[in-house]
Amino acid sequence: VLVLSQPDPTRPVTHSAADVLRPHRADLWIEGNTIAAVSPPDPAPAWPEDEVETRDAAEFWILPGFVQAHVHLCQTLFRGAGEGLSLYRWLSEVIWPMEAALEPDTIEVAADLALRQLLSGGSTTILDMGTTRHTGAVLSAVARAGIRALSGPALMDRGPEAAGGLIRKGSESMAEIEDLAAQWHGYDDNRIRIALCPRFVPSVSGGLWKEMLARSDFASFPVHTHCAETEEEVADVLSLTGRSPAAYLSSLEGAQGRLKLAHAIWLSREDRADMARAAAAILHCPGSNLKLGSGLADVRALREVGLPVGLGADGAACNNRLDAWQEMRLAGYIQSLLRGPDAVEPAEILRLATVEGAKALGLEEEIGTLRAGKRADFLLLDPRADDAALGAADEVPGSDPAGRAETPEAMLVFTGSPAMVSETWIDGVCRYAKRDDGEGRGELIRRVRWARERLAGRLNR
Ligand SMILES: [Zn+2]
Repeated sequence: VLVLSQPDPTRPVTHSAADVLRPHRADLWIEGNTIAAVSPPDPAPAWPEDEVETRDAAEFWILPGFVQAHVHLCQTLFRGAGEGLSLYRWLSEVIWPMEAALEPDTIEVAADLALRQLLSGGSTTILDMGTTRHTGAVLSAVARAGIRALSGPALMDRGPEAAGGLIRKGSESMAEIEDLAAQWHGYDDNRIRIALCPRFVPSVSGGLWKEMLARSDFASFPVHTHCAETEEEVADVLSLTGRSPAAYLSSLEGAQGRLKLAHAIWLSREDRADMARAAAAILHCPGSNLKLGSGLADVRALREVGLPVGLGADGAACNNRLDAWQEMRLAGYIQSLLRGPDAVEPAEILRLATVEGAKALGLEEEIGTLRAGKRADFLLLDPRADDAALGAADEVPGSDPAGRAETPEAMLVFTGSPAMVSETWIDGVCRYAKRDDGEGRGELIRRVRWARERLAGRLNR
């Protein structure tokens, strides 16, 4: 049993405020991989003193770890490779050929690089989409890094010539998922789980959707795909299926309650209603949407029909940071632009990156808040490690004559950064500590250089 102690709780938290623990508020009790208590308000557990290890965490904020609800670990070596392109050109000229050139050892380097950035920025859970092959290498990297992950190979059984190197028969992909599930699904007390990842409607045939959704052995796997990212895609899907992407996906038999839809920008009112009826979840990717010029997702409208919304950085080739802080900030800016600055609620945005993200992934019973019984996935945060937060209202009590001081949530959403993350814990284990940050860095840089050279060689053959 470990206690991260915040002695002298002069202003104890209430349960409703227990999602963010500010300094000197409460003790976080951890037993194995689980939060045993947040005290106060929970009573301190009565364990024998010699079984309790107490560590002084009085100066830290404690936050639930971030949920990155849509990422592509396999794309990290492509960072910077597709600048200045919109989605379809970016896919066909850069991403598909580069994904097709990946091999197990280069994909593993890509995943290691992504995971290092995710952990050091405070992300503790990811929903990942692989490329169409070598997902075993991604999952090995995930297993080593200690992050909580749902992942699976991208499914593509049709598409334009540019996607040729990636296209696989549905039966081959199904067999690979079977093998991956046998090896990885439920690994490390359910830390790793398999997701079905049909890339998007234009690259997956009706037959393959049907086959995958009908498999009873895959029935517990979420269905992770891209939906209504660009107007071009909507037009494409309309001509292929006679329906909009949201309507098509929502109508698929076996999709009920399983759809995890990245982007969800170009939607009609009926599309939103269809998705709500299908109990889908939305994975909002503000950084990627802005950079590729795809459009602005109206998160408020999605939330109003009851759709859970999580945040995702998408891949390093379209963002270029896998940084939950940046996604929170951009999500707030987009809401301000669409709905006015008074409609932006920082506490709500913070929830998108934590408990709403957990809900979108179907993990809200396990993660997303600091509550007794949930998994011990959390961050130790030191805002003073970032100059932008020096002198923040929270640090200088009484420094707010106008009575409109930023709330702790506003500080986190609008000022927060990876620089503030001191430690990242998953399942009660510290998986990143800033003090050890130099370790392995040189070796990783060497591996990345090697992998990029190898990738370039394969592409130019
Ligand atoms: Zn994506």
